[in-house]
Amino acid sequence: MSTNKRILVTGGAGFLGSHLCERLVDQGHDVVCVDNFFTSQKTNVAHLLGRPNFELVRHDIIHPLWLEVDEIYNLACPAAPGHYQYNPIKTMKTSVMGAINMLGMAKRCRAKILQASTSEVYGDPDVHPQPESYRGNVNPIGPRACYDEGKRAAETLFMDYHRMNNVRIRMVRIFNTYGPGMHPYDGRVVSNFVRQALAGEDITIFGEGDQTRSFCYRDDLIEGIMRMMNGPDEFLGPVNLGNPGEFTIKQLAELVIELTGAKSKLVYRPLPADDPTQRKPDITLAKKHLKWEPSIPLRDGLKKTIDWFRSIDIASFRAPTPNF
Ligand code: NAD
Ligand code: UDP
Repeated sequence: MSTNKRILVTGGAGFLGSHLCERLVDQGHDVVCVDNFFTSQKTNVAHLLGRPNFELVRHDIIHPLWLEVDEIYNLACPAAPGHYQYNPIKTMKTSVMGAINMLGMAKRCRAKILQASTSEVYGDPDVHPQPESYRGNVNPIGPRACYDEGKRAAETLFMDYHRMNNVRIRMVRIFNTYGPGMHPYDGRVVSNFVRQALAGEDITIFGEGDQTRSFCYRDDLIEGIMRMMNGPDEFLGPVNLGNPGEFTIKQLAELVIELTGAKSKLVYRPLPADDPTQRKPDITLAKKHLKWEPSIPLRDGLKKTIDWFRSIDIASFRAPTPNF
């Protein structure tokens, strides 16, 4: 009997989604990628279009969708602060109405569904590192709330569909992830610093640069997501997926300068409102239940990312929003 599944990836043309689609297509599954291209472009999946087991659908998940599938990876949502704050009401709709539509499909098809949640559910954390049991410190009325609260509400919906309707769910809380395929103008810290360094521009540090983040390489993260989807039914999550290595933003800037050989200067800009001061995943649960932990250190992942940025024609990417 074939073990190939019909798999829907929402947000499948995005940074993480396009790599997930590649992995699933290579495994032989029948993959449907659904995307409205808000923060991505068709070229991200153009190399898959000729494959007989890949299908691309332009659709916005805030509207109902009728497909027959076995599994759903729900990744559709702008992820970079500049992108999700561009139209905050739309961001909330995508998280909440999108989750309801995809959970409804999962219920009807008896499909298994995975939610791409985020470390942002912890807000500006006062527990460090963050375990899944920490309930977070989110400002519900700040500029980041459309994303943080939208993702929190989506987790609630996932649990309620599971409790009420026995929908088979999985939830992953993704910490800052970077790598080839990032939108060069998404305004996220890795893409900004690498783009600025390669162009010989100043590197923009927000605040003093002593806030911390933990950076996970794309391939490690996608491996974790796939293990979670295929993991034991007793373990629904939410599970943290991220690299526990913790760096200040200033350390990141210095590493990018070293690896690119750039002559860029560090310049300081105001810290955006509600910018979390520290972030580092506790990945005990992922290690225990999924036998997963990241294998690619920041230095190695950054080298691959810099190589990719050197290889692209940056002019072919649209800058959908201002990036700082
Ligand atoms: P991305 O912006 O590159 O990808 C998101 C994709 O979703 C894009 O292709 C976009 O066009 C699409 N999309 C947005 N709204 C949509 C809608 N209403 N209908 C259909 N498609 C829509 O971001 P990413 O980094 O690939 O993130 C993917 C997922 O992972 C997101 O849900 C994000 O919240 C989550 N996540 C990512 C990170 C990270 O560091 N990359 C961290 C935490 C969580
Ligand atoms: N940041 C920065 N310079 C930039 C872009 C971002 O100093 O050009 C900082 C930002 O203020 C935050 C961290 O880098 O403290 C990570 O920002 P990002 O937008 O990548 O994601 P976040 O983790 O805040 O969602």
